[in-house]
Parts: sequence; structure tokens; C-alpha cells
Amino acid sequence: MALPDASPEISDALRVLHRVFGYDSFRGEQQQIIEQVAGGGDALVLMPTGGGKSLCYQIPALVRDGTGIVISPLIALMQDQVDALTALGVRAGFLNSTQDTYERQAVEQAFLADELDLLYLAPERLRTEGTQRLLDRGKVALFAIDEAHCVAQWGHDFRPDYLALSMLHERWPKVPRIALTATATSATHAEIASRLGLEDARHFVASFDRPNIQYRIVSKSNPQKQLLELIRAEHDGDAGVVYCLSRASVEKTAAFLVEQGIDAVAYHAGMDSRTRAANQARFLREDGVVVVATIAFGMGIDKPDVRFVAHLDLPKSVEGYYQETGRAGRDGEPATAWLAYGLQDVVQQRKLIDGSEGDEAHRRSMAAHLDAMLALCETVDCRRVGLLAYFGQPGEACGNCDTCLTPPESWDATVAAQKLLSTVWRLAKERRQKFGAGQIIDILQGKKTAKVIQFDHDGLSVFGVGADLSTAEWRGVVRQLLALRLLTVEGDFGTLVLTDDSGEVLGGRRKVTMRKETAAASPARKDSGSRKGKGGRVPADLPAAAVPVFEALRAWRAATAREQGVPAYVVFHDATLREIATRLPGTAEELGTIGGVGEAKLAKYAEGVLGALAEAHATVPAPATPPPAESVPQVPVPAPASRSAAPYDEEPPPFDLEEMDPPWDDWE
Ligand code: ADP
Ligand code: ZN
Repeated sequence: MALPDASPEISDALRVLHRVFGYDSFRGEQQQIIEQVAGGGDALVLMPTGGGKSLCYQIPALVRDGTGIVISPLIALMQDQVDALTALGVRAGFLNSTQDTYERQAVEQAFLADELDLLYLAPERLRTEGTQRLLDRGKVALFAIDEAHCVAQWGHDFRPDYLALSMLHERWPKVPRIALTATATSATHAEIASRLGLEDARHFVASFDRPNIQYRIVSKSNPQKQLLELIRAEHDGDAGVVYCLSRASVEKTAAFLVEQGIDAVAYHAGMDSRTRAANQARFLREDGVVVVATIAFGMGIDKPDVRFVAHLDLPKSVEGYYQETGRAGRDGEPATAWLAYGLQDVVQQRKLIDGSEGDEAHRRSMAAHLDAMLALCETVDCRRVGLLAYFGQPGEACGNCDTCLTPPESWDATVAAQKLLSTVWRLAKERRQKFGAGQIIDILQGKKTAKVIQFDHDGLSVFGVGADLSTAEWRGVVRQLLALRLLTVEGDFGTLVLTDDSGEVLGGRRKVTMRKETAAASPARKDSGSRKGKGGRVPADLPAAAVPVFEALRAWRAATAREQGVPAYVVFHDATLREIATRLPGTAEELGTIGGVGEAKLAKYAEGVLGALAEAHATVPAPATPPPAESVPQVPVPAPASRSAAPYDEEPPPFDLEEMDPPWDDWE
């Protein structure tokens, strides 16, 4: 089994990979990382979500003597992590504030008796003298510092307790440490290395590309309706995450989806903790639940089959956006990252920055982050290339993002920009007035609205000079001018004012090229041939004959997971069910050769799986004859929204700062 020249650590590691996890081979740099840590060295691992970080510390912990200590910031998810390991036959436990003394003592005893392979701890617990003495009395195989970017002080997930983790090496100099994160910028990388004293560790930086995620950014008209179209057309019955900026819009959007028959739950830090935990548990445990949440939701969620992540508001930074969208498709199957973005988003975010506490340097850094995000939204080039470039990694046009699939047209917007900027200038100069985008666009289009008449704006020389563009197009112009900083917003009402650079455009010294506004809510996926099954999307590459069997296996999995009180994916991942449905193993031995079926799961589930297969066989006529296409339940696909359907009329009202969730609200 082992390669002839493999180190002893690696042949052990390969055995564990087969026996415990049921996988054939390592992915990417897993082998080198495992070798480094299993051999007693330190490692700093930057790998995208879904890259396979967990095995990088779980296998060394199993190979080395003693217990691997995993420092993880999210207490609420420790139970699921331990359940998933237990299902694999790994001896795992956790120590945190959710346990009573008795439970805690039982785990401590198991650790001291060297009966644990992995022990999960929150960073604050590790700081206590009691915990440190406990670790001294037992045998520690390694320290794994998960979500290591929490040590970065300017990052959005900063946790002060992470700073103290630099003591690990002083107190236990012989114990190897591995720090892992999915946050990739070089600044964060450097900060993790220096704060955790990992400069001399081996650094492993994986590619951050997530080729199975299709990136799409659409212009926002009626976000709820656009979202519903996306779900109905492409993700009916799929698990997904919908991010909103404010708690109020989380609640409203969740209620709207439920009204429309979508199985949706809400999640934000303002909810009572019982409901919040129950909603999270439903999302994790059941198939096909959509969670509508603020950014308080998501870190540490390792549900592998999230098929889409939708943003109804503009994220504050590319880092945040990449991390949030990265929660889609951890299992490597096709997934969608979809963002609806509009003029109001730019206005809101700029206002937020202006009104933020903190010094000038902090505001400048926030503004730079926002600018990078806006550039990504307005690009006419491949989104993936833009994302990877942001993380300092090369990339080629991907063929799986909206700009690759439906290349946007650009147009010379210099004259339009001049018309708009000069309207703003004239209002300020001739009338000493400032107005928001709505009034300026009415003036340009020559609309005699009550407000136009009230302020006598039809007397301006620019009145009606922009009748050639639609309201949506003008809003696109304003939005892109804001993104380019050729225009800015001021005050509580989002009034538009010129910037230092506006003069270059007005004076004809600078040309402005813009992305054309597209009418479609979202370009359809190229592979939209996926079929719908009762319990959600059936993988596109599943042969038709295997569909009913896959469905039967999913039903068996749901029942089994419910019975055992664990998430469905802890039983088996979709990929494993798919392989079973196509290969149709007839014996336990054959079942054991399928990816994701290790020894423990084979012993536990062989009977159930083979039973479900036999039953499916009995009810499905003959697997050789594929069922007629009509027998696969069809989901009505709504007609695409017509362009005239009141495009920009329902943007969300400006939000309230109080309403927003900082990501750390949920941490204990
Ligand atoms: P991360 O923590 O980096 O987000 P995970 O450790 O959760 O990623 O792994 C993502 C998925 O990939 C999981 O479903 C895991 O079981 C699977 N996986 C990891 N390594 C391998 C491998 N070598 N072969 C097959 N599947 C793997
Ligand atoms: Zn692309």
C-alpha cells in the first residue's frame, strides 16, 4: 500500500487515510503537510475552504502518540465536529462552557488516560492555568490552531484570545504546531506567522481557486424577487446561505422566502439564542434548508453540500466576500456564488465608512477594501482572475463566471458622465443645492415631477439633456462614477458631490468606459441541465438510471441521520452516495472500496445501505432501463423578469448601524 520510498510517517498516514476516512489518495499538498507535522515540525497552512485542511491535523494526530489539541473559536460547532469524527471511529472530545462538570471531568479523564485522539478547545480555555496543567499531565501529540486568521488584529474575525497562543511554543517547545486558515492575503499571512511565532515553520500556500464555484454579480433591482428567481430556476430544494447586511432584512427576506414555499430560516445575533441554535441545527442537519443570515453566520460551518451563497448587499471587502462565498460547494460539486449589487449599496457603504469610529488610518483602510470590492463588481474581465489577483495568485479566464459566460459590453460613457457631473456642478454652483441620484436623474431625463417643479429644476440648462438613457442606465452611470471615485456621497441623505477628479472628466481630459447594464437577473448556468429530485438537486453527472437509487439512498441517509441526531453529511457525503448509486455494490466488501467509506462507517452502515439498495431495486423496475425523463419531477421555471418590470424601484432603504451584526457577536 505504501510507496516504496515513502517515509514511515507517510505510510502510516496513507493507511489512516484509507482505513479511517475511506479515501484513496491525498489532495494537493496534504501529504507534505502531514509529513511535516507527523514528523514533529511546525506548519502554517493557507488553503481555501473545502481544500481539505482538517485531514492535515487529524491524520498527524492519529499517527503520533498522544492527543491532538485543536484550538477552534466556535464552541457551537464543536459537538458536530466531534460527532463527525466519532462516526469515523476516531476518539474525539471537546472541553467548553456548554458542558457540566461531570461531562467535563469525563473528557479530562479520557485525555489523561490517553484515550483521545483529538481534543477541541476554545482559545480562552487554553489560557487558564487549570487547562495548562491538565495538558502537562497528559500527552499532547500536536497543537492545531484552526481559523488562525483570528489572530490578525485588523481582520474582521479578530479574537484577542488568539494572541495568547504564542505561548504554546514557549510552554511546550517540543510539541509541533500547525496553524490553518482560509484567509489568504499576504498581510494576514505575515501577521499570523509573526503573532504565532511561526516564522520558522514550513509555510504551505495552496491555490485559492475554487473552480466549482460559479461567480456571478448582477445589478440589483428587486433583490428578493431576483433571489427567488435564482432559487427557483437553479437551486430548488438545495441548501444555501443568503447574506443580508441588517437584521431587519434578514428577517424580512426569510419570511418572504417561506411565504414563497422555500424552506428558509433566519439567523442573526439579535435573535434569542435558542431559536438561533435551532435554525442553525436545521440548516446543518437537514437537506435543502436555506439560511438567511448576517455575517455572524458561517465561520466553522463545514456543511459540504451548500449549493449556493447569495449576497443581497455588497460585502465590505473582497476577503469577507471570498470567505463567505467559499462556504458553497466544499464537496467540490458545482455551486453558485451570486451577488446582487446596486447604487444604493455604494452609497450606504461609503456613508458607513464616513460615519465609522476609529482613526483616519482605519477609515482609509476600510475605503481601500471597499474600492477593491467595487472594482470586482464593475470589472468586465473574468471575476475569478480578479479574485485570485487580489490574493496575489495568477489565474486565467475561467469560463465559469458571469463575465466569462456572457461577456459584458462596455461603452464610452464619457459624455453621459459629463452630463451627470455637470448637473451636480450646476446645482451646487447656480442654486447652492445638493441632491441625491433620484432627483439628478429626473432632471437629466427631463421629467417634470412635483419635486422638479417645486425646485424649478426644469429651468436648468441641463434639464432633459439625458433623455436618451433609461433610469436603470443612469443609475448604472452614477454607481460606476461612485465606484471610480469621480463622484462621492455626503451626509445622511446620500447627496451627490463632485470629487477632486471630477474636473478631469468635465474638462474632457479623461475618458470613462463603463460596463453596460444588463437586464437579465442572472445569466443561466451553462450546465443548467441538472435534474431535480424530491429532496433537492440531483447531481448533473448522475446517469438517469441511478437517479431513483440516489433518491432512495438520500431518504435512507435522512432517516439514519435523524435517528442518530447527527447532520446528514456526517453519515455520508453526496459524493459517496452518488458513487454508491452508480456502482451499486452488492457486498459489504465492495461497499468498502467506495470513496468516503472507511472501516467504522462500513461496520455501521453496510447493512443499511445494502438494504436500501435492495429495496430500491425492488421498487425500480430495472436499473438498466432509464426512467422516462418525465418521471423525474419537474420544477416550473419562472419566465425571466421583463426589463420593463419596474427595475430600480425597490432597493432596500438605508440601514441602521445598530441593526448590523459584527461577526464576533456570536462568539463565546
Ligand atoms: P477545509 O477545512 O479546508 O474547508 P475539509 O477538511 O472540510 O476542508 O475538507 C473538505 C472536503 O473534502 C471534506 O468533505 C473532506 O472529507 C474532503 N476531503 C479532504 N481530503 C480529501 C482527500 N484526500 N480525498 C477525498 N476527499 C477529501
Ligand atoms: Zn471567469
